[in-house]
Amino acid sequence: MKVKVEDISPRGLSLDYLEEVGELNSTLTRSDPLAAQLPDRLRVTCTLSKVRRLVRLSGALQGTIEHACARCLRRFQIPLELAFQLSLQPADEGPHDGHAVELAPDDFEFGTYRDDEVDITAMVCEQVMLVLPYRALCREGCRGLCPTCGADLNEGACGCVAPQTGGKFVSLRGLKVNR
Ligand SMILES: [Zn+2]
Ligand SMILES: [Zn+2]
Repeated sequence: MKVKVEDISPRGLSLDYLEEVGELNSTLTRSDPLAAQLPDRLRVTCTLSKVRRLVRLSGALQGTIEHACARCLRRFQIPLELAFQLSLQPADEGPHDGHAVELAPDDFEFGTYRDDEVDITAMVCEQVMLVLPYRALCREGCRGLCPTCGADLNEGACGCVAPQTGGKFVSLRGLKVNR
């Protein structure tokens, strides 16, 4: 979704739509095959207003994130809800123009837009990436997989003898992840 700055009326412009997530999902899996995915489209609600060429964007995202647990690899879903506030100035005015800083309330993040268009999709992707945890766990204290037989230890002990050396443990776990 892109909005032309000239289409933002003096009273502002409100949007409420479902954002496609296919591209975001492939960006996420490109760097990590076990990366989080969005199983459904994201609901985006936002309001745009402008002061001269400065655009303010207040928005919220609602959806679902599907993670792969960093320990047991089980996929699980959690709700995604976040709000963001951005103050955007034209990229060609340079970052130290001063306008944006003077006019934006304290709690706004700064950004830019190009070609007189605000790329809402790009902002949405950025906001989602910002909230993704580096490691997600399906539950607190997830027991993970047995490094020897691969059994999910949350479902009970598998009967293997616990490995004695840390090095062996790590390399076997690596094989499991890459299977
Ligand atoms: Zn887990
Ligand atoms: Zn085992």
